[in-house]
Amino acid sequence: MYVSADEIKAQAVAQGFNLVGITRAVPSPTLAAYERWLEAGMNADMGYMAREDRLARRRNLNVILPNVQSLIVVGFDYAQYIPKSLLEDPSRGRIAAYAWGIDYHDLMLPKLKALGKWLRTRLQHDYAAYVDTGAILERSHAQQAGLGIIGKNTMLINSRRGSQFFIGEILTTAYIESDSPHRETMCGVCTRCLNACPTDAFPQPHVLDARRCISYHTIENKGSIPIELRANFGNWIYGCDVCQDVCPFQRFATPTQEINFTQTDIERIAPRLSDLLALDKEQFAQRFAGSAIARIKHERLLRNACVAAGNSGDRALLLRLEKLLTHENSIVQEHTAWGMGRLSV
Ligand code: SF4
Repeated sequence: MYVSADEIKAQAVAQGFNLVGITRAVPSPTLAAYERWLEAGMNADMGYMAREDRLARRRNLNVILPNVQSLIVVGFDYAQYIPKSLLEDPSRGRIAAYAWGIDYHDLMLPKLKALGKWLRTRLQHDYAAYVDTGAILERSHAQQAGLGIIGKNTMLINSRRGSQFFIGEILTTAYIESDSPHRETMCGVCTRCLNACPTDAFPQPHVLDARRCISYHTIENKGSIPIELRANFGNWIYGCDVCQDVCPFQRFATPTQEINFTQTDIERIAPRLSDLLALDKEQFAQRFAGSAIARIKHERLLRNACVAAGNSGDRALLLRLEKLLTHENSIVQEHTAWGMGRLSV
């Protein structure tokens, strides 16, 4: 049976996806740059990225799915407008916009699998579905599928909707007609994102050094946050949106229509630091259930909140911090002491 690319795209849109494109299942054109990035150690302690088995999959998509022919790449908007005055309030901890709603993996993967099953039923071909979980350079494949271009901030940017959309993909053994890739660059002479990064995490355009990235440190780093970077974290406690927020293409960001990605509770978008510092494990689990924030667990969020508290200039938080000086976790203790020291000068 034959299924056209247009039918597949219509089915993806029916699943709720906002962008969809198709490309050949060939190695990413940015693979060599990715390997140079790893060699330079810019993946910080995300050692899994450099694992041989994962590199083998990136170099050859057949390792993931034998006889793979095509990639169907989708985008799902998550943008939502919240006043900056609220987000930048130093008495609140700031959370990256992608994590305001429910964990996107939980929403997108079932939708992608439904699309994959529909395709399998029609074409009798096998598939694999990923949402930011597989060893695959998805932004680069998304560019090949025509969803946008990778900007100097390393994000995939669509000229008509900015960069606030999630990416997912289906690998299939079916051969499907491909879209044309975006080849032109859109950044021109602009360097806003490179200049705005609070921790100078871009050593050059299109290269992000995770070792200096707020997003890496607040989410992935399980240990101590480098002392020399902490004062530049501002009130970020989970992720960072600075290099996207300053991008001129963000003015075209399309507000999400997905109710599960919208958030009306300001305490989930930018919780008061005084509340966060007083949360116990159970309260943390209850408050962030179903969100991506739950993944970093209570102690890592406390660690991040201590840094934000130190940066807040609000000496009233000293009382809250003092209680954490005897916390059972030594990393929380150390970040508490740092926060108190910064508030005391
Ligand atoms: Fe490109 Fe400017 Fe956007 Fe950075 S801020 S990604 S340089 S357009």
